[in-house]
Amino acid sequence: MAADKACTQCRAMVDGSTCVVCGGTDLTKSWEGQIFIFNFETSDVAKAINAKANGRFALKIK
Ligand SMILES: [Zn+2]
Repeated sequence: MAADKACTQCRAMVDGSTCVVCGGTDLTKSWEGQIFIFNFETSDVAKAINAKANGRFALKIK
C-alpha cells in the first residue's frame, strides 16, 4: 500500500497513472489517512470530503 497515490483533484486513491474518478493525472504520494466510501450519494463522509464516487479516498492531501 505504500506506493498508493492519491488524486490531487478529487482525493481518490489511484492505481496506475490516471484517476478513474475524475480522469486527473496529477497524483501525489503525500497523503494521510484513507477512507472507503460505499454509498457516496448518501454518505455524510463522502459529502465532507466531496467524494463523487465509491471507492478509496485519501482523507488529507498534503
Ligand atoms: Zn481524481
